Amino acid sequence: MTANRLASEPSAWPPMREELRGLQPYGAPQLDVAVQLNVNENPYGPSHAVVADVATAVAEATGSLNRYPDREFVELREALAAYLGHGLVSAQVWAANGSNEVMLQILQAFGGPGRVALSFAPTYSMYPEYARDTNTEWVVGHRESDFSLDLDAARDLVLDRKPSVVLLPSPNNPTGTALPPEAVTMLCEAAASYQPGGLVVVDEAYGEFRRSGTPSALELLPRHRNLVVTRTMSKAFALAGARVGYLAAAPEICDAIRVVRLPYHLSAVTQAVALAALRHAPELLGQVDVLRAERDKTVGWLREQALLVADSDANFALFGTFEDRHAVWQGLLDRGVLIREVGPDGWLRVSIGTAEEMAAFKQALMQVMEEGKSDE
Ligand SMILES: *Cc1c(COP(=O)(O)O)cnc(C)c1O
Repeated sequence: MTANRLASEPSAWPPMREELRGLQPYGAPQLDVAVQLNVNENPYGPSHAVVADVATAVAEATGSLNRYPDREFVELREALAAYLGHGLVSAQVWAANGSNEVMLQILQAFGGPGRVALSFAPTYSMYPEYARDTNTEWVVGHRESDFSLDLDAARDLVLDRKPSVVLLPSPNNPTGTALPPEAVTMLCEAAASYQPGGLVVVDEAYGEFRRSGTPSALELLPRHRNLVVTRTMSKAFALAGARVGYLAAAPEICDAIRVVRLPYHLSAVTQAVALAALRHAPELLGQVDVLRAERDKTVGWLREQALLVADSDANFALFGTFEDRHAVWQGLLDRGVLIREVGPDGWLRVSIGTAEEMAAFKQALMQVMEEGKSDE
């Protein structure tokens, strides 16, 4: 029987790309746990007023779902440009289904065979996957022990490898480290100094959570035509379920991405939801200050427990180090608290939730560490 013959050759079926065979899809476990602090979501759901407005907008869009949506999503680009400020106009804005899709499109348009994408580890684990999926060579430099960048070494690596795309999350995931503007400027200049030059993508997925005094790379856009700043509605904006991410860059860069995007990639429903949500931006972003304060308290508390904690400008904290981090992660899960096993060996990452969720996390962690001591 055909099925049996295929079963006896598991590696040959399905006939996948050689380099993808046996790989697991990316993603944190989606478990039904009381306290979910593992994927950096905003713990505060939308208010009744926001729900009602989004529902009305979706109902209106539903009336014409027999038609394809506006392929250029002009109204949404205008609304995003107005939201970002900094004098940006719609031709400088692009959006897709999450900033993950935005970054994949950047690599589809600017990466590819014979080209290099570069970042500095530890960093976001999706970047090497965009590179792999677009046949772009992946080059990774390293961060210092405090997870900052050695600027001279970073520039030398860029000049040496001449990447087409440099991916720089700021604040970085999973460490929470923000980049100083000098770093962005230096790397933009380095990436503009060879032919045909490279893009510097500053991934500001957590930009809204920066501590005061840390500027956004949006301010540098007028100075560097090869700078791209990506943002998302998934984190501070409390809209992870809607899948909306976007970028600000030179109009030529947006036009280049239009060549590779799928037709009508942003559904009419997605556009309607995003537009309605943007009308409520102040309210949706209203808990950001609460989360920043909770973040600073959490970092302080973890340090009081004699743990190492990376300075964080994001809505999470990376802490450690544990001899057996998996045991700590499992101990927390056994107590109904789900965090993330990610980053360098020995470290764990906790997203910032509500005050009640953080209290549950602290209590569970104290118990797990107590137990660890008595096991010794
Ligand atoms: C969460 C996150 C994103 C945003 O992903 P979406 O696809 O917009 O939900 C982008 N970059 C980093 C580093 C992230 O952690």
